[in-house]
Amino acid sequence: MTDPHQLLKSVFGFDHFRGVQEEVVGRVLAGQHTLAVMPTGAGKSLCYQLPALAREGTALVVSPLIALMHDQIRSADALGIRAASLTSADDRQAVTARALNGELDLLYVAPERATTDYFRRLIERTPLSLIAIDEAHCVSEWGHDFRPDYRQLKSLLDDHAKVPRLALTATADRRTRADILQQLGLPGDGLIVAGFDRPNIRYVIRPREQTGKQLKDLLRDRPGPAIVYTPSRDKAERTAEALTATGRPALAYHAGLASEVRARNQAAFVASEEMAMAATVAFGMGIDKPDVRTVAHVAIPKSIESYYQETGRAGRDGEPAEAWLFWSASDFALARQRLEEECPPERRESERERLNALAALVETPGCRRAVLLRHFGEDPPASCGNCDNCLEPPAQLDATEVARKLLSAAFRTEMRFGVGHLADVLAGKETDKVHANGHHRLSVFGICGDEELPLVRPVARALVARDALRADAYGGLSFGPGAKPILKGNESVSIAVPPQRKRRRRGDAGD
Ligand code: ADP
Ligand code: ZN
Repeated sequence: MTDPHQLLKSVFGFDHFRGVQEEVVGRVLAGQHTLAVMPTGAGKSLCYQLPALAREGTALVVSPLIALMHDQIRSADALGIRAASLTSADDRQAVTARALNGELDLLYVAPERATTDYFRRLIERTPLSLIAIDEAHCVSEWGHDFRPDYRQLKSLLDDHAKVPRLALTATADRRTRADILQQLGLPGDGLIVAGFDRPNIRYVIRPREQTGKQLKDLLRDRPGPAIVYTPSRDKAERTAEALTATGRPALAYHAGLASEVRARNQAAFVASEEMAMAATVAFGMGIDKPDVRTVAHVAIPKSIESYYQETGRAGRDGEPAEAWLFWSASDFALARQRLEEECPPERRESERERLNALAALVETPGCRRAVLLRHFGEDPPASCGNCDNCLEPPAQLDATEVARKLLSAAFRTEMRFGVGHLADVLAGKETDKVHANGHHRLSVFGICGDEELPLVRPVARALVARDALRADAYGGLSFGPGAKPILKGNESVSIAVPPQRKRRRRGDAGD
């Protein structure tokens, strides 16, 4: 086996491993199964490419996106790594022959093809150095991009039980990680999580007023390359036009454009030092543009995972960059409506939670980065000094009393109920559910005054955000570690005074 440091230098041209790469590579070289959770840009590819060269045999790389596969193969080629994919029937024979002759370092395959009989017979006759499973969160129903084909991989892995497995993902919360470990047969101590913090990105989250104007004002002062994420294709085009009208070079990118147009626009953006790309989420994957200075969302992203991934395209060069999000309560209403109408019933609960987590991020009066990093299982300092709320703490309302009442209500009702029911109890509403559970006899029944009731939900979100309350899969709220200090009177709870409420006049549409 060749020395990994030597390969790092001679093949990849790097002097040092970055972050957790060394640990991950070390485990794979030692033949151990591993799940590496590493943010976009942390260098996941190297974690399987290097061991693929150091170990005997061919590395199998399961990857869900054919376009990404082709990018990966091109960059592997450039490094002199022998890579191919089994994606088209055309070159199936040639690729098969190369695999059987031991002429491939990396063999990429889509999950639906990996489990075909043809493929299984092929790899029975091909010595494998490792099996990498990219975008491993797709195996979990908790993940944001569940793909049933990933579930079939386990039996393939079990056929090659001695081959080290390396599952990789950029986006997995705690529960998804546990699920990936289980679904792919990986040991609990095989989990390696890289730091998610991107300290050079400044997060700013604002209620949306007049989208067009807010965005134009923002970009007028920020001439560097920018990506503007829009919720629809149509909006992407209109945004590009509106920005062009201000004199800013701007193009649109979405899946509805012809592929030549997409490729042309992308190339123009990558080459430009001042262009704004107005795009749907179709834009960004596999694009290596390190000097994006601003990423703006004109409506809420799909989840915290998507937000992190999309904003993560800012400042890959490590220089200061900004991520702006303009949100409206109507974004959430629309997302919740879609969820109820379009999401299969068994996934609704986890999708609801995903939205709640996003709501907690946009509504927090505290540090945005802290909320993000906690979401990814880290234990960050309470304040980062580089987000809107840390730089300019919002006007706050002391809601400690309401928080205590809410926590007591959760406790007295045995920590199984969601905020809706708890609000009914605190309001003293005699609903069927209240009666059925005998909650009208509790001391907390009706203890909130009229002026306190509108604060119950914002307070609940604030408590979830700071881990004083934890929501289970059904929205039931129970104590997290942050609950005690509040109940004991050692900590206070304040919530941001919603700016739209401060400013709203009669007759405003609210969006
Ligand atoms: P990911 O898949 O995690 O988003 P990539 O594998 O595409 O990240 O790597 C991101 C960038 O970091 C690439 O340009 C890659 O060449 C670079 N890179 C990876 N490892 C190192 C390293 N050890 N030192 C310097 N640059 C690295
Ligand atoms: Zn902060």
